[in-house]
Amino acid sequence: MYNPDPEKEKREILNRYRNLLRVWATREKPVNKKLVRKAFNLAVDAHKDMRRKSGEPYIYHPLDVAKIAAGEIGLGTTSVICALLHDVVEDSEYTLKDIRSLFGDTVTRIIDGLTKIEEIFEHPASSAQAENFKKMLLTMSVDVRVILIKLADRLHNMRTLDAMPENKQLKIASETLYLFAPLAHRLGLHAIKCELEDLSLKFLEPEVFNTISRKLEESRPERKRFINKFIYPIKKDLAGKGMDFRILDREKSVFSIWEKMQSKEIPFEDIFDLFAIRIIIDVPVEKEKEQCWRVYSVITDYYRPNQKRLRDWISLPKANGYEALHTTVMSRIGKWVEVQIRTKRMDEIAEKGYAAHWKYKDGIDHETGLDEWLNKIREMLHGEDSDALDFLDDFKLNLFSDEIFVYTPKGDLKIMPVDTTVLDFAYNIHSQVPR
Ligand code: MN
Repeated sequence: MYNPDPEKEKREILNRYRNLLRVWATREKPVNKKLVRKAFNLAVDAHKDMRRKSGEPYIYHPLDVAKIAAGEIGLGTTSVICALLHDVVEDSEYTLKDIRSLFGDTVTRIIDGLTKIEEIFEHPASSAQAENFKKMLLTMSVDVRVILIKLADRLHNMRTLDAMPENKQLKIASETLYLFAPLAHRLGLHAIKCELEDLSLKFLEPEVFNTISRKLEESRPERKRFINKFIYPIKKDLAGKGMDFRILDREKSVFSIWEKMQSKEIPFEDIFDLFAIRIIIDVPVEKEKEQCWRVYSVITDYYRPNQKRLRDWISLPKANGYEALHTTVMSRIGKWVEVQIRTKRMDEIAEKGYAAHWKYKDGIDHETGLDEWLNKIREMLHGEDSDALDFLDDFKLNLFSDEIFVYTPKGDLKIMPVDTTVLDFAYNIHSQVPR
């Protein structure tokens, strides 16, 4: 049981605020720091009598959401302020008018969007879920930052979902899996997408999640031994050439293993025979291509590559911007190993999305780089000359191309994966029924 201690809590609030500043404020002007401080003070006051389901002070939540927005998505001052204030209008006496007079129009517009989305999720009219879904996408498209802060909010709620009653856990986890994880994917936020999927699975299919996690854990020492042996000569060689590099043992996410087991109808052990490593080199942009191929050349000095598995996404990046060199080589004990070769820049962009781009552009400050990214998303969502409604339909189709729409006896729309069984369906309906 959580035991409130006012002194301890006060220290913890300041602690979390300092953590937020650490990931966000390193590059900020004093005037922005003052604004964030103002938002922090207002949020503390607005939520002062509220607690989370866990018993902890409510303010922990907006503080952590702001930290995710800044640290894991790479957003700037306006978003940090909005993240701190995102539940203020919904949950306290403060109104949008107050927000406007204190923080201006942009912040108000974003908070308004976030509050509306909250209402859509909290009080869905049961007969009009499709309509709600549409409304939500429209609201989100007002300002792309609404989507991104909502994602940060959802990620934190998923990380702290343990404290919720079971029917809420199931509702929130299904929404996350069917809506927010695909959204994160489309926005190029790979790390967040994977975490949302794993957390959803943990609550929706606890047995599956625990079994795969346990097997992952059990096979880890053996895998590590194999990988260490495999990379030993490569490491030595690259170091001898004076290259600045890191080698990562790439562990698949629980969710992606489960997905593969289902789609290919194979057991865990067969998937786990596939090893993958990632080599990340630190080189200036103009040397990237040449140096990545140099690494490729070192690897193939020791291991025989599979010709058909060479992918050059450096010369021709994927449509979503992904850059890397992939090859699959035969190890000494007859197992295939996939090797991904990336530079530090490519790796950060692949994991964090376009938010990482600005760091690598000369003469562009954070906010400008960020604006560029937000514009890109806006373009992607709206398309060149499609009007808002077309975009919604396209988006919905794309988002759920792997899903089917099912109606419940009461006429509610449910969105389920293509290979849904009757049992899944029943489970999904009943998860909505409070116990
Ligand atoms: Mn929230």
